[in-house]
Amino acid sequence: MFENSIKAYEQACEVIPGGVDSPVRAFKSVGGTPPFIDRGEGAYLFDIDGNKYVDFVQSWGPLIFGHANKEIEEAVIATAKKGLSFGAPTLLETDLANEIVEMFDNIDKVRFVSSGTEAVMSAIRLARGVTGRNDILKFEGCYHGHSDSLLVQAGSGLATFGSPSSPGVPADLTKHTLLCEFNNIENLKKCFEDSDDISCVILEPIAGNMGLVPASPEFLKACRELCDANGALLIYDEVMSGFRASLKGASGILETQADIITFGKVIGAGMPVGAFAASKEIMGHLSPEGTVYQAGTLSGNPVAMAAGLTSLRKLKANPEVYEGLNAKAVKLVNGLKEVADKNGIGLQVDTRGSMFGFFFADKMPTNFKEVTDFCDFKRFATFHREMIKKGFYFACSQYEAGFMCTEISEDDIKNCIIAADEIMKNL
Ligand SMILES: *Cc1c(COP(=O)(O)O)cnc(C)c1O
Repeated sequence: MFENSIKAYEQACEVIPGGVDSPVRAFKSVGGTPPFIDRGEGAYLFDIDGNKYVDFVQSWGPLIFGHANKEIEEAVIATAKKGLSFGAPTLLETDLANEIVEMFDNIDKVRFVSSGTEAVMSAIRLARGVTGRNDILKFEGCYHGHSDSLLVQAGSGLATFGSPSSPGVPADLTKHTLLCEFNNIENLKKCFEDSDDISCVILEPIAGNMGLVPASPEFLKACRELCDANGALLIYDEVMSGFRASLKGASGILETQADIITFGKVIGAGMPVGAFAASKEIMGHLSPEGTVYQAGTLSGNPVAMAAGLTSLRKLKANPEVYEGLNAKAVKLVNGLKEVADKNGIGLQVDTRGSMFGFFFADKMPTNFKEVTDFCDFKRFATFHREMIKKGFYFACSQYEAGFMCTEISEDDIKNCIIAADEIMKNL
């Protein structure tokens, strides 16, 4: 059933490292080869062998209205017909910035970039520029893109400066990155004792890159208080949770607010867009208003802005979609849990708005180490492989979250749970 994809993958591997342009797509952690996609339509993906899948990945988050949404498609085509890029200001950028600024009390200005990686990298430079400090503090299991200083892993013992997690990253470039355990307040306090040069604390307030692991309210409060007490800025990386966890992302459902927010994924509705945003005082440090340099030839690209603007306006006009998305996410994970229980399999589930997560584990993990320690990765791999065969496309790693879109139907969810039941009988 995957003949064409298998052949396409072999051919891709000849000319593209690992056959893919982003490693997770290669299905390394679940085995097998990835289906090559021909097209998407609403809730569904169609591969080049003609297989149809209910898509719970939605391009890793961006497509909250599903594939090939008519209104977004029309906006993109109409804008593309006027020219793809000008390297000069367009009204679309101000329009999208206004839509965002209107939503958040703590945001006055937005700068657009072309990816989540770029948004975070720029937000950190801004935080360093504003505070005049060098160190940054991040948490194990939070992903903030692939820029050098963020590719760190725990060194010897916690509360240390991270060491590079990838060859090609000089230790000199990670020596200013402190690495703490997620949801661990004591560890965070110790980090602030270890360094008086911390410019910012960055985290995913609802982590979705170690599976779905929300930060506890107490932990977020501690982040806020320690930043304030020590003159550091707090950055929420909402590249995934933004316009997903709620209309206002994690910021919309949490009490504690950040100084800088980064966006990506949903903000471009499938086109390459990222953004970072803050108060006018903080953003005033950014070039050309201030002295912190940041730039991009294709930043604020009109076609990408048109996609993001159409999607965001649709969301703002129909804020009730989030209740519907969450109801479906809850129905899906509760259904999966029910059939897991029935078959004597430990499954931990959670949702935040349109994000959902499930772990093959007997206890709910609260940080990266617990995800790694508690979860049955082999069982996940088998489950994933068999679900694909039955036409249900989940993220190909237990370290990834799932995404509900408006087009997935009650029947899709019901059928998914029936398929999962059949698979779990032999899992
Ligand atoms: C996806 C993601 C990024 C990186 O975004 P890219 O567009 O892949 O560069 C950064 N932070 C978080 C939280 C993400 O989920």
